[in-house]
Amino acid sequence: MPHDVFPLDSTRKFTDQKYVGHNRWHPDVPANVEVRPGEVFRVDCREWFDGAIHNDDSAEDVLHAPLSTVHVLSGPIAVQGAEPGDLLIVDLLDVGPIPQEDSGPLSGQGWGYTGVFATQNGGGFLTEQFPDAYKVIWDFMGGTATSRHIPQVSFTGIVHPGLMGTAPSHALLQKWNAREAALIATNPDRVPPLALPPLPQDAILGNLVGADFDRAAAEAARTAPPRENGGNQDIKNFTKGTRVFYPVFVPGANLSMGDLHFSQGDGEITFCGAIEMGGFMDLHVDLIKGGMETYGVSENAIFMPGNVAPQFSEWLAFSGTSVTLDGEQHYLDSHLSYQRACLHAIDYLTKFGYSPIQAYMILGAAPIEGRLSGVVDIPNSCSTVYIPTAIFGFDVAPSADGPFQVEQGMDVPMASF
Ligand code: ZN
Repeated sequence: MPHDVFPLDSTRKFTDQKYVGHNRWHPDVPANVEVRPGEVFRVDCREWFDGAIHNDDSAEDVLHAPLSTVHVLSGPIAVQGAEPGDLLIVDLLDVGPIPQEDSGPLSGQGWGYTGVFATQNGGGFLTEQFPDAYKVIWDFMGGTATSRHIPQVSFTGIVHPGLMGTAPSHALLQKWNAREAALIATNPDRVPPLALPPLPQDAILGNLVGADFDRAAAEAARTAPPRENGGNQDIKNFTKGTRVFYPVFVPGANLSMGDLHFSQGDGEITFCGAIEMGGFMDLHVDLIKGGMETYGVSENAIFMPGNVAPQFSEWLAFSGTSVTLDGEQHYLDSHLSYQRACLHAIDYLTKFGYSPIQAYMILGAAPIEGRLSGVVDIPNSCSTVYIPTAIFGFDVAPSADGPFQVEQGMDVPMASF
């Protein structure tokens, strides 16, 4: 096992660890550790709510999920010799749940969860149809996920970090805060909000204390959105074997990571989210000096996906167009057409005996593919969602025999305000 440069003890809170990570982006968060280009090392990661979501049959914890505390990130990790303008190469050599041999309440973490936030506490992609809080627990066995809350579904994990990125410079942070504040100002009272402004409450900024902490906490960026530094991109194809090229904005690059997922569908539409878990990553880093200019990489990271994703040969796909459920025509709105494609798939799966929330959870957690199939055919964009048929324990294709009916067991836990 590679040297663990950022060890975490599963029995302790994120703030009581040997190294304290961070849950906001700010250039002044000091690096905890330094690695050399060419070095191979391990990093432990907490699940994104630092253990607030439990392996039980109640959704009360998701209803009251403390969004001000996320994401708890491991790092920053400084890379010797990295300078603004470089490209940081990160090879994801391995990634997985907390290893079996570790001790503590989360030891051998053989489970993860998918949640849906209530509209008043974060919402989600289909919050109009699903305004309450829900949770399903997934059990991991031999690399496969199954759930006591969703019968007759199992799939191989496509394990990946939802979030990884380099620290922003002061100038870049200012740019983020200005443009996101301008968006929020267009509808400041919206529920859920249009964006999340800096929030000192519950901010964790590594070893920063006193006046330095207060100043940074007031302007540090929230970790929910992906931005130029990578960040919370939630790309399900960041599996083992992936090579990512991150722009470097500060000396040392200050790489951070977290939000590990056992699996996820394209879009992470449930928001809370994929199959969330704690775990570890083994990484190798290197530098391309001046690479941002050489390769024109300044807007965001580029990457070469890993090659260990499960291979499916058969899919059932659903399409949607940019027309609302009320029949209102929108112009080439791919967000809307993807929502319609997903709702279309949910309607279909209910014919097999699934509840709508079970179907929504399947789309959020299983390795489904989302595609922008058409973006030019005015006025309708066409989005599609591809479901691998092999994840079901029965034939999910339409046939003259009619839909198979699943035998329901435990209800999906739900909670409301
Ligand atoms: Zn996540």
